[in-house]
Amino acid sequence: MTIVDAIAEPLPRAVIDLAALRRNVAHLTELIAPAQTMLAVKADAYGHGLIPIAEAGLEAGATSLAVLEVPAGLVLRSAGITVPMLAWLHGRDTDWRAAIEADIELGISAVWQLEAIEEAGADRPAVVHLKVDTGLSRNGATREDWPHLIDAALDLERRGIVRIRAAWSHLADASIADDEAALAEFRSAVAEAEERGARFEVLHLAASSAGIRMPEARFDFVRFGIAAYGFSPFDDSTGAELGLEAVMRLEAPVTEVHVAGTTRARLAIGYGDGVPTLGIAKTSVLLAGRRCPVMAVEVDSMLVDAGSARVNVGDTAVLFGTGRSGDVTAEKYADWAETIADEMVTGVASRVPRVYVN
Ligand SMILES: *Cc1c(COP(=O)(O)O)cnc(C)c1O
Repeated sequence: MTIVDAIAEPLPRAVIDLAALRRNVAHLTELIAPAQTMLAVKADAYGHGLIPIAEAGLEAGATSLAVLEVPAGLVLRSAGITVPMLAWLHGRDTDWRAAIEADIELGISAVWQLEAIEEAGADRPAVVHLKVDTGLSRNGATREDWPHLIDAALDLERRGIVRIRAAWSHLADASIADDEAALAEFRSAVAEAEERGARFEVLHLAASSAGIRMPEARFDFVRFGIAAYGFSPFDDSTGAELGLEAVMRLEAPVTEVHVAGTTRARLAIGYGDGVPTLGIAKTSVLLAGRRCPVMAVEVDSMLVDAGSARVNVGDTAVLFGTGRSGDVTAEKYADWAETIADEMVTGVASRVPRVYVN
């Protein structure tokens, strides 16, 4: 293959509209004021790209970042981002000392994590957010373990090894009733910790769902993820209905056209790039100004039926986008594939180039 061929190799791309991200973050931040926005940028910012999304979100009014694990926080610090960041998924290989010295705040669910902080021997106190499980059963001290976690943290605080900044939890968002029960559980856990002597600078509980529909769960900040990327956290509404815009548009070039009765076009994107193979019979893409049913999805390509449309090699098909110009949103595509928009965008393979606009 010559170099020219290599350059000309047709690639799918995920176009990331940073202006849409900024509008979403500004809109959500206004909605929850005086609470603030902690933008969730886990999983490479839900597939949108960690650093550009973090920077755009902060420009639009987010005041802190939720990064999931320490390495992502260190990447953001190396990019010169100085705002508060919270990392809460820790394992045996977590570099506690690097995290503390980079001022990455640590979500803490278990006493072993406090012991690891003490052993790390960092040059400053670790800033910790103590996490209680309020029913989701995903990473958070049980109510039984909570008093022990509080006492252990208070002991380290007295010795200057940690600074207790927050109590927090994560909601299941299965129903309003569940979230209300979890909110009551959270308040009771905070009261219990305060009785034992803990003093929290901030409290935080809500992600997109409760952040939007449960004002009493907003506390000091809301950890917005999916809504910031333009999608609804609810089954009964779309992102557009909530005033949000999809940030990612997934598109692929046509690489082959076969005309025999109807026109069939092959696109340079497949399941290896994150295109779902479920629900193909319902799925279509936007090509040549019309909706073209998907006939097959292969590892690196897919075949669509363009009917009587005139299609040329090099034309661009849109799998999902804003939903405003004949394309569908990732929410719609996710319905066809029996999944959720979060998985559609996060699942776009890292080999698909992200192209930033606005
Ligand atoms: C992913 C995540 C969020 C954001 O959730 P969304 O529902 O996408 O808004 C917030 N907090 C925690 C702990 C998370 O893991």
